[in-house]
Parts: sequence; C-alpha cells; structure tokens
Amino acid sequence: MSDRLPGFSTLAVHAGAQPDPTTGARATPIYQTTSFVFNDADHAASLFGLQAFGNIYTRIGNPTNAVLEERVAALEGGTAALAVASGHAAQVVVLQQLLQPSDEFIAARKLYGGSINQFTHAFKSFGWNVVWADPDDIASFERAVTPRTKAIFIESIANPAGSITDIEAISTVARKAGVPLIVDNTLASPYLIRPIDHGADIVVHSLTKFLGGHGNSLGGIIVDAGTFDWSTGGKYPMLSEPRPEYHGIRLQETFGNFAFAIACRVLGLRDLGPALSPFNAFMILTGIETLPLRMQKHCDNAKAVAEFLAGHPAVASVSYAGLASDKYNQLARKYAPKGAGAVFTFSLKGGYDAGVSLVSKLQLFSHLANVGDTRSLVIHPASTTHSQLDDAAKVKSGAGPDVVRLSIGIEDKEDLIADLEQALGA
Ligand SMILES: *Cc1c(COP(=O)(O)O)cnc(C)c1O
Repeated sequence: MSDRLPGFSTLAVHAGAQPDPTTGARATPIYQTTSFVFNDADHAASLFGLQAFGNIYTRIGNPTNAVLEERVAALEGGTAALAVASGHAAQVVVLQQLLQPSDEFIAARKLYGGSINQFTHAFKSFGWNVVWADPDDIASFERAVTPRTKAIFIESIANPAGSITDIEAISTVARKAGVPLIVDNTLASPYLIRPIDHGADIVVHSLTKFLGGHGNSLGGIIVDAGTFDWSTGGKYPMLSEPRPEYHGIRLQETFGNFAFAIACRVLGLRDLGPALSPFNAFMILTGIETLPLRMQKHCDNAKAVAEFLAGHPAVASVSYAGLASDKYNQLARKYAPKGAGAVFTFSLKGGYDAGVSLVSKLQLFSHLANVGDTRSLVIHPASTTHSQLDDAAKVKSGAGPDVVRLSIGIEDKEDLIADLEQALGA
C-alpha cells in the first residue's frame, strides 16, 4: 500500500464510502429507514447516553448521511461534519450552539439574501442580534466586537457579486476577540477554497448549490475544524458546561476536537429537527463525485462569459473577481487560484428596465432563484432575492437596481455567449 495521502478528486469519489458490508453494493445505498434495531438493552442505553456511537433514529443520524458527512469533512479538511436539511438549517443549528438570548454575532454585509433575512428577522425572535460589518473594511469587524459577541460569519465568495473575502484577515480579528469564525463556503465549494486552511473554525454549506450541483436536492452541512477551544471564559456553555439531557457530560471535555459537530447533532439536530432525507444525501453524494470536473468547467465558462460581457457596448460594468481588472482579483489569485467561481453580476447602461428586458429575452439561461446548477441561471436580485432591502442596503450588498446576477453552468460557453449576445442586441 502506498502511504500517499489521497488527492482532492480521489476524496470526492471515495471519502467515507466502502462497499456495503452485507450486500457488497458499491454505490452508497439509500438507508431509507427511520430507525435501527438495538443489540440489547445495554447497547440501547449506551447509545442514548453518548457512551457509544451508532444509529438510533434518522433525525439524529443515518448511514447514508454519515458517508456524506465524512466526505465533506475530508474535502474541507475538518474533523467531523453534520448534514442537515438545508443551508439555512445549518446556520440555525450552528448559532444555536453558540448564542444565548441577547448575545450578538457579527456578519459580513455581503451575503446571500436569504441569510440577510434570516439573521435580521428570524434570529431576532430568538434574541440573537446580528451586527453588520463591511467585508471590504476589516477594521469594521474589529469595531463591531463587544463583550456579547459570540461569533463572526462571512461568505468566502460572497453573493451576489462573487466578491472574494479576506478570510485570513477576518480570522485574525476573530482570534483576537476569542470567538469562532464561521465561513459559508457555498459559492466556492472546497474545490476552489478551503476556509479551514485560512483560519476558519466552522464551515457551513448549502449543499443545494455546487456540491449537489444538479439543482435537484436541498441540503446543508456543518464542518467542524476542531480548532476552537470552547472552554475559555464560560462563553460557550452548550459546549463547556454539564448537559442535563446527557447525565451531566461536558461535550468539549468528552469529545475534544469534534465536540462542536457533536453538539450540533445531539443538541441542535436532535431538538430542532431539520434532518436531511437519506434520499437527498444519496443525490448529493453522487453530485460530489464530479465536483472537481464540474467546478473547473463552471469557472472556465464564467471567465469566458465575463470577458465577453466586459467587452460589450451595452454593458456598464462586470463584477467578476476572475477578471484581471476586477478589484477582487488580487484576493482571487490568493484564495481561489483555480478559478473565481461561477456566480457574478453585471450592470447594464440601460439600468433597471434594460436588466428586466434582458432577463426576459434570454432563452438558454433559466430565470429562477438558485445558483450552482449544471444549467446557467439568471436573476435580477433587486426585484427578487434582495427585494426586502432598502435602496441603500441593496447597493451596499451588491444588488443595486441595474444589477443582473448570473450563475454560469457547464454547457458549451459559445452557446451561453450567443444567448447573451442575442438578448443584449435585440
Ligand atoms: C442558497 C444559499 C444558502 C441557503 O441554503 P438553502 O439550502 O437554500 O437553505 C446559504 N448561503 C448561500 C451562500 C446560499 O447560496
């Protein structure tokens, strides 16, 4: 046996999976069952008391989901992972382990529109207060830190404009503040950026996007880097204090560098309930096998389309970090040397009306609210995903009225350019 560490593409196909021990099935089976038989009463008691690992009930864990968890943990370089029903569920479960009512977390202002909504409105009802900072101004994160700050949340490649976040600089702020850095790595996927290598303590994903990759299954995942010490200063009682529901065990003391992933499972997922269907886990696992091939094609196509748009007379500006002239190009070269992702925005000289008209004339691009599909997608964020923001906040988050967002698929780039050309020219 070679002692070579497997490369990324090998892990994407194999990590976490082996032939099924009872049937020999080579693909990971869909364990479509709610519950699992115990060996005996002692076995059942030890599973419930967290003294042994094993399957109990699919809300808490499932063997198909476990393969997905191990695979994404391997691809991200984390110690453990937890799959959940959606990207939004991942965000709730993560923050529930970290925040008590009236605590704060700092979030980058440039985020997926749904996350801005979730943080501003839904989390307020839990007593969790979001404080916004500007990812282009690192000092704004430092200024936002207070004694109630429990976490910092950023996107590696930020929605909607595909801007690149300086993860290392913000991780330095998080370390100084003694709080974990959470990175939403949905738009990059671990093929382009591995946030843990740059100082992230927790990575979250919407598996719905590039990891699943085919626009057919919702899912989310939480990856524990195993880097954060939860015991300091009693700031994180869910992890450091005795848990009454598990005979007083302390999760950090018992589970060490994967205590956060355990907390998310046995306190978050068990009690809040957003479990991922094993069928969706199977679909997403199948998608991940081709992630390196798809992601490279997504990026190469996106660069070609961005270059075409940048040279078109009807286009006012293109915001794509893969263009040499882009303000995020230096950061893209550092963090995402294989490509700057496939989601970006551009604006038209004709403003709002021209944007709406373009969307209606495109034929190959689908007009819908998603990203990271094999198919190319288009949307006008100001009237849809970011419509809840006021005009100033729209501009600040990169979703001004003249902005159109593209998610470039894996079709032939010549066909995508031809479709844009006819829609812009007509
Ligand atoms: C889609 C998305 C989410 C939310 O994920 P769901 O699976 O739709 O719940 C979170 N962050 C980013 C960057 C996304 O694109």
